[in-house]
Amino acid sequence: MGEDDRQGGKRKLHPESLMMSHGYDATLSQGSVKPPIFQTSTFSYPSAEEGRSFFDVAAGREPGTADVDGGLIYTRYNNPNMQIAEERLSLFEDAERCAVFSSGMAAIATCVLAHCRPGDTIVYSRPIYGGTDAFLNKFLTEFGITSVPIANTGSASALHEAAAKARSMGRLAMFLLETPSNPLARLTDIAGARDAAVESAGISQHRPIVAIDNTLLGPVFQQPLRHGADISIYSLTKYVGGHSDLIAGAAMGSAEAMGPVRALRPLLGGSLDPHTCSLLLRSMETLTMRMSKAAENATAIAAWLQRHPDVGDVFFPGMAAEGSCQRGLYETQCSGPGALMSFDLGSREAAFGFLDALRLARQAVSLGGTETLCCHPATTVLSGLTPEERSELGVSDGLIRLSVGCEHVDDLIDDLDQALNKVMHSKN
Ligand SMILES: *Cc1c(COP(=O)(O)O)cnc(C)c1O
Repeated sequence: MGEDDRQGGKRKLHPESLMMSHGYDATLSQGSVKPPIFQTSTFSYPSAEEGRSFFDVAAGREPGTADVDGGLIYTRYNNPNMQIAEERLSLFEDAERCAVFSSGMAAIATCVLAHCRPGDTIVYSRPIYGGTDAFLNKFLTEFGITSVPIANTGSASALHEAAAKARSMGRLAMFLLETPSNPLARLTDIAGARDAAVESAGISQHRPIVAIDNTLLGPVFQQPLRHGADISIYSLTKYVGGHSDLIAGAAMGSAEAMGPVRALRPLLGGSLDPHTCSLLLRSMETLTMRMSKAAENATAIAAWLQRHPDVGDVFFPGMAAEGSCQRGLYETQCSGPGALMSFDLGSREAAFGFLDALRLARQAVSLGGTETLCCHPATTVLSGLTPEERSELGVSDGLIRLSVGCEHVDDLIDDLDQALNKVMHSKN
């Protein structure tokens, strides 16, 4: 962290104060206030000796001397835009190392492959993002890596039961957890997963990696690394990018946990291009502001939905009953509810009617953009599950998922209200 990160040498500045400056030296770019886009595939090195040294560091034959890498070589390995984006993103979780990727899935796949080998097992929370589910259960199984879902994500005993089962099947190498879950906002105990990983090390002499997909609340409202996770993974496509105009991912954590991930990234080739890195730098300047505004809107909408006589259950982080285990977890590991919720309209017919009646909110999958998006999980993002699996997970045919954006909250509530009135009207 540079001198610019301290105020009067006393305390660290908040991430939002550093998003405009950290990790970028303007004197190296003619005083340009914003980092230029380093639209280059390769970098010239000053001497043959330095070229040799850069390669030895990049290949791990020599320890790195510089902060991040031995030197700039080739954009699949590193690029100034990539490095600035990584350094800035790290600030939110105080991570030692960060790696950005060409998508959230590239980040997830690279982390898993970096830490798992044939014969290993993975414990994961369910439901998990559809791409992750397919990667674990349709692809990795063919490489002899088996995944064990946690039966009732959220309860501590379920986590331990899944871990014991995974150990009976092979070497337990990873906990891969999404918290809160999507779309029902169930929380999994991050510190509890860390304890289970330590306990597992005592039993089987191998300490599993705790990896948390932090896309839904992070990095503003949840920082898994502070609760003992080894790696925090992001689809930057969602809140961090924030404008539904880019695809990117990231993983961050200790140097030890991230070493194999950073080494594998250029081999699988999922590095992030300089132009998208530059878009991300722009997005990160307003990240805290956007997430705070969206969360404020979402909190008002969730309360309004909960009071609405035509709406069934509403699922939103922090809304679990006072004194419940879920509420306790929310208070311990989240500092805000985010802006993704779901609610039940009773039937697929009512859900479809409601979606088609919306005027301001748009029908689309994805989430975390400045615009409000709405979808029907059972026939879109969770359509890969069987009806039995969905009902086991509590995802009903009447469930609507809403990703609240940054519009004026009164306009959003008016839109939801007119759509609800229209459906309930046509039913009579
Ligand atoms: C979107 C998403 C992903 C995948 O990210 P991409 O950027 O689309 O590859 C992974 N996990 C969660 C929770 C997501 O919402």
